[in-house]
Amino acid sequence: LASEESRASATPMMEQFIEIKANNPGSLLFYRMGDFYELFFEDAIDASRALGITLTRRGQHMGQDIPMCGVPVHAADDYLQRLIMLGFRVAVCEQVEDPAEAKKRGSKSVVKRDVVRLVTPGTITEEKLLVASESNYLMTLARIKGAAEPLMALAWIDISTGVFRLAETEPSRLLADILRIEPRELIMPDTMFHDAELKPVFDVLGRVAVPQPSVLFDSATSEGRIARYFGVGTLDGFGTFSRAEMAAAAAAIAYVEKTQMAERPPLGRPERESGASRLFIDPATRGNLELTKTLSGEREGTLLKAIDRTVTGGGARLLAERLMSPLTDPDRINRRLDSVSFLRDEPGLCSDLRSSLKHVPDMPRALSRLALDRGGPRDLGAILAGLEAARGVASFLSGAMLPQELSEALDDLKMLPAELETLLGTTLAQDLPLLKRDGGFLADGARAELDEVRALRDQSRKVIAGLQLQYAEETGIKSLKIKHNNVLGYFIEVTAGNAGPMTDTPEGKARFIHRQTMANAMRFTTTELADLESRIANAADRALTIELEAFRLMVEAVTAEAEAIKAGARALAIVDVAAGLAMLAEEWDYRRPAVDASRMFAIEGGRHPVVEQALRRQSSGPFIANECDLSPAGTDEFGALWLLTGPNMGGKSTFLRQNALIAILAQMGSFVPAASAHIGIVDRLFSRVGASDDLARGRSTFMVEMVETAAILNQATDRSLVILDEIGRGTATFDGLSIAWAAVEHLHESNRCRGLFATHFHELTVLSEKLNRLSNATMKVKEWDGEVIFLHEVGPGAADRSYGIQVARLAGLPDSVVARARDVLTKLEDSDRKNPASQLIDDLPLFQVAVRKDEMKRGPSKVEETLKAINPDEMSPRDALDALYALKKQL
Ligand code: ADP
Repeated sequence: LASEESRASATPMMEQFIEIKANNPGSLLFYRMGDFYELFFEDAIDASRALGITLTRRGQHMGQDIPMCGVPVHAADDYLQRLIMLGFRVAVCEQVEDPAEAKKRGSKSVVKRDVVRLVTPGTITEEKLLVASESNYLMTLARIKGAAEPLMALAWIDISTGVFRLAETEPSRLLADILRIEPRELIMPDTMFHDAELKPVFDVLGRVAVPQPSVLFDSATSEGRIARYFGVGTLDGFGTFSRAEMAAAAAAIAYVEKTQMAERPPLGRPERESGASRLFIDPATRGNLELTKTLSGEREGTLLKAIDRTVTGGGARLLAERLMSPLTDPDRINRRLDSVSFLRDEPGLCSDLRSSLKHVPDMPRALSRLALDRGGPRDLGAILAGLEAARGVASFLSGAMLPQELSEALDDLKMLPAELETLLGTTLAQDLPLLKRDGGFLADGARAELDEVRALRDQSRKVIAGLQLQYAEETGIKSLKIKHNNVLGYFIEVTAGNAGPMTDTPEGKARFIHRQTMANAMRFTTTELADLESRIANAADRALTIELEAFRLMVEAVTAEAEAIKAGARALAIVDVAAGLAMLAEEWDYRRPAVDASRMFAIEGGRHPVVEQALRRQSSGPFIANECDLSPAGTDEFGALWLLTGPNMGGKSTFLRQNALIAILAQMGSFVPAASAHIGIVDRLFSRVGASDDLARGRSTFMVEMVETAAILNQATDRSLVILDEIGRGTATFDGLSIAWAAVEHLHESNRCRGLFATHFHELTVLSEKLNRLSNATMKVKEWDGEVIFLHEVGPGAADRSYGIQVARLAGLPDSVVARARDVLTKLEDSDRKNPASQLIDDLPLFQVAVRKDEMKRGPSKVEETLKAINPDEMSPRDALDALYALKKQL
């Protein structure tokens, strides 16, 4: 499209379009023409398909019809919303001069147009485009080459609330770090986008990952860019950032400036988040545990949905954020738990707070829109309502012996500017229009002059009716009327036959000025009427000027208090989250977990938070609570592993997940669904549950399982919690058993983590004889009249059999197949008994990780040293073979 030939043959308007389009690659171009935004060429085809609107044509280009579609300007927000949801980016191109100006330059001249805004998923602020309960993060990824310090960093910004955070990362945890934040848009230098090592990460993110020109990430200019944005001379007061963090932060700012066209959203100062202070949850685990999204991508059925009792958008966002990144510092966790405990014990206060909070609008987002000059009267109204509600919340909290977190929140609430509340309260009208354009948002009494002007407007009808009466009396023409139209404004109309007193008497002539003669009517005006007319017209203009000026002053007053408002909004969110969790605890009888730096993991009467609620909703019987104790026993330093056997449908997965979820809830600072829980901080949480097929990426189920298992065995530490469900299922029995066997040994001997391992391989249960921190547990079942009854109860010991055939029967397998399967099973069990797997335990020496570690400490072996000295590039095939023999001898 941008070729010489193409440009040369284009009409002047198309030429302009092509140029603007070329400057905004990767975005749909909304090209303003009158009351429509038009899209052309490929954009039109994409948009018409995405929006289901008609594709038409407009003229020709290089002999071809130009595809076109359009959306009306007044409804553009709806269309934008749908496009953004689908992951498109849109460049909004407006006419930037009066069409009359263009005409003056010549009849063929095109109105000047320019892109005034880039709407991208990560940089939206419109209420309609945002989900109240979700953050909307733009994330940048930067990398510094060849430095000693960490090489990669992420920055994330929510321009709708001003949150700005930074963290270092590395390739192995990059995806986990990104998914923890769930950005709507991740940008990185285009060179990095094509980096083979990182490609798989970007593939997972799909449309969310967008390459940008590398100049945006230039680390040499990053400090200056950040300092300029915040209007400071140096960043010394901001804390210390690595060069990679600085580059990521500067890129985020550069991208915001680029998309917002130099408007400045009120970003908070960048805050560093250290990876070590957060529970590391690897991407597979995050997905499997269905924290904020189910595996099929829905919100219903997630942990978040089950625990969310917040009543404000800010509270919902904070809760989701805490759930996505639980803490690892027991003190911080306990401070949060203190707030929940406090409100749990003060149900009256808790419900008062919640009813005040219900009136809290989305202050940070309203603030952002106002600062970006995209706000309307209702955004000012939102700030006012927020300030009022905050005062209510503060008054409820005052006087109580508050725990630290709430008392800090109260301090922030008290810092909210009362003068601003007064200013907005006395200036804004009750019912606010959406747009400031037509006025009507100032309260009566806010501006004396506006009151006069409004009185004049309201009284004008009365005054005119009075004049009409007066003129009718003076002239004796009963049918005299005062009318209004757009050409003449106000005028006096009489029928042609009645006009005598105006046209024929000297007094009449002096008083009534002729304006127009119609077929059977004559129209006049008077100096009085003309005067009134211009006063009314001026009044409307004047009223709008006064209102807009007042609007500007209010916006100024609001943005001047941006910091206090953001802090206050954050405080309200904290109160909302604490009160919501207290409600939840009350509703479902959750208890406060003991959280400390030990390696305990002792849960009594634990339940699955989502399944428990689902069962109650469906009235399908109670959830059976279960104990789980992985605490170090006796003099052991490390936590324990449980090997869980039991039939399908017995409740193994549910049990595994519930314990992982309880750990997450505890570390995010929530009460937990258990009679009691004592949790020593978990640093990393891993799970391998269910078969999350990844066939789209060309991996078999078994391959996915092994990749996930490898990640766990490589990364779990002695403070980690590992949940493994049926390792080695996707392959031949002996392969599978061997892998599962080795994995359990590795977890026990090398990782030394706490963990739950569910398996169908009953052979594994003999391992507990050798591995001192491994115990067997099983899901209890009752057999009754040839049927299995699942008790969903976890107890010590091993299941003696799988009940697979009984479950198959329950599922409706034909009786003949069930009977035949029974026969086969009996035969198989007979032959198996002759070759018991329990012999394995005697035949196989225990897994030797520890020994290998010692070897490493001893320094390189002779073989290794010989190998190091060899340079294969300089060897002949013969030399190579000799060297190989020599090596073999050294063993
Ligand atoms: P498994 O992993 O052993 O095949 P699941 O964990 O999938 O079994 O559980 C099967 C079903 O049993 C679940 O859908 C759930 O509704 C029910 N269930 C599981 N655990 C419990 C429990 N503790 N109390 C009540 N019902 C349960």
